[in-house]
Amino acid sequence: MAVPQRRISKTRKRMRRTHFKLSVEGLVTCPNCGEMIKSHHVCPKCGYYAGKAQFLDGKLVKEEAPKAEKKAPAKKAPAKKAAKKEEK
Ligand SMILES: [Zn+2]
Repeated sequence: MAVPQRRISKTRKRMRRTHFKLSVEGLVTCPNCGEMIKSHHVCPKCGYYAGKAQFLDGKLVKEEAPKAEKKAPAKKAPAKKAAKKEEK
């Protein structure tokens, strides 16, 4: 049977054991209030999720009306072609 060649000193043992520690996985800081919260969950303290208030005073916040649709970018290419044709 394998036997340790010499005893491990208290210091060596304690140095090894400094790495024995628990880690809490899946916790992130709330960007709104800075509390440690479960990731992908509404913050139980301030009720924020994805940068918006989802719950205030325990009540669900209704979604606001959707923003106006983005204006389509102006088509400049045809205008330039038309200008070139005029030059000719
Ligand atoms: Zn929060």
